Amino acid sequence: MIRAFVALDLPEPVRQRLVLLQHLLPLPRRVPPENLHLTLAFLGEITEPVAEEVHHALAALRAPAFALTLRGVGIFGGGRARSVHAGVAAEPALAHLARKVETAARRAGAAPEARRFVPHVTLARLKPGDADPQRLEAAVAAEQGFAAGPFAVTAFALCRSFLGESQAHYRELARYPLA
Ligand code: ATP
Ligand code: MG
Repeated sequence: MIRAFVALDLPEPVRQRLVLLQHLLPLPRRVPPENLHLTLAFLGEITEPVAEEVHHALAALRAPAFALTLRGVGIFGGGRARSVHAGVAAEPALAHLARKVETAARRAGAAPEARRFVPHVTLARLKPGDADPQRLEAAVAAEQGFAAGPFAVTAFALCRSFLGESQAHYRELARYPLA
């Protein structure tokens, strides 16, 4: 089985800004720079033939390139913080692409996660008792002015995830240009 997801890669300057942001927050375990990405659709465990079908469907997908800006910082999990992320400024072309990717993956036989698409770049995943919640919330509030970009999004990628002991490791399987 292949643990797969579809994501946007980030330009190096944006990655560097995110690394800086990570260091401004009290995060015990940061996502390593090379792992920073924006997930469009999480496909979960799929067979090799389904991955092959998904690949063909994504290669046939037509969508326009667009500009994206990262903005703000947030925490998922409410009172029990699970992860910290950089936010994304509203961009209809991004939501459009995510919807097209989800539809293509579903038609190809995958069962993409159906939760509402909330674009974000995960900066750290937390474990219970990891962080002092008040200190984390205060630091996140203090960094709301964070913004990076706009940067051009000219491609998206099918990625494979290998879950590790501490950090997952990702491999890009294929990349698809946007018009
Ligand atoms: P770990 O699970 O070990 O913390 P990870 O989350 O980086 O590592 P995966 O679980 O393989 O690795 O996830 C790959 C990508 O898909 C990540 O961007 C993750 O946030 C996203 N993702 C994982 N599960 C879901 C889900 N159920 N719904 C939406 N996105 C998901
Ligand atoms: Mg995960």
